[in-house]
Amino acid sequence: MSILSVQNVNKSFGGLKALNDVNLEIEAGTVHAIIGPNGAGKSTLLNCFVGRLDPDTGTVTFDGKSLLGIDPHEINQTGVSRVFQTPEIFGDLTLLENVMIPAFAKRDGSFTMNAWGSVSGQQDIYTKAIDMLADVSLDSKANDMAGQLSRGDKRRLELAMCLVQEPKLLLLDEPTAGMARADTNNTIDLMKRIAERGVTMVVIEHDMHVVFSLADRISVLAQGTVIAEGLPQDIKGDPRVQEAYLGGAHL
Ligand code: ADP
Ligand code: MG
Repeated sequence: MSILSVQNVNKSFGGLKALNDVNLEIEAGTVHAIIGPNGAGKSTLLNCFVGRLDPDTGTVTFDGKSLLGIDPHEINQTGVSRVFQTPEIFGDLTLLENVMIPAFAKRDGSFTMNAWGSVSGQQDIYTKAIDMLADVSLDSKANDMAGQLSRGDKRRLELAMCLVQEPKLLLLDEPTAGMARADTNNTIDLMKRIAERGVTMVVIEHDMHVVFSLADRISVLAQGTVIAEGLPQDIKGDPRVQEAYLGGAHL
């Protein structure tokens, strides 16, 4: 069953058609990779899923409800979490605080910490945040300032900030960008564990090692158009995909 349905989405920036009649069905419980050359429209598409951009036309439906026109700040209430291409963390807060904030936001619908909130409720969130940091192997740094982390650790922290909201659908824009191979492999393992819990994932990724380690299905975007969609083994051999990737250099 499809949990995210994207139909006839178009998006232009001035004269540039960034998305050209995009249709996409994401099956619940799968990892769906979106690949394509730089400038293909991948990030634009993801931004249309989370209220950062409004498509010119088309529909985006999650779990039977439209995601269009939704306030980005309310997106976490819907069961959708996202990791953007550039980590969005609070550099001058500790790792623990960074993970507790989205946990509060999910529970209370805002970032404001209620000073009169029940101690047991807050203890709950503290415990959850620590567990989540352990999950991404950052618990030993819980009280460090997030701004001091390496790029790989920042991405893992961002993942923890998403996971603490217990999303049904996790959207990741190039989660391993800029990571060393060891960090990339740790992130692949982490994403596999997340997938095993039944979280549906849409992963934009240009590292084919990551894509073929994780994806159940792959959609290929080129110049705003979905040029191929299918199982990893089919996509690997698809001549249109090879061509979009400059003679297969990246596959
Ligand atoms: P990808 O993530 O696949 O590399 P993007 O979605 O970032 O591609 O960009 C698709 C195209 O849209 C590119 O040509 C890019 O320059 C353009 N674009 C993206 N965002 C904007 C914007 N806010 N304003 C104008 N052009 C944009
Ligand atoms: Mg992008």
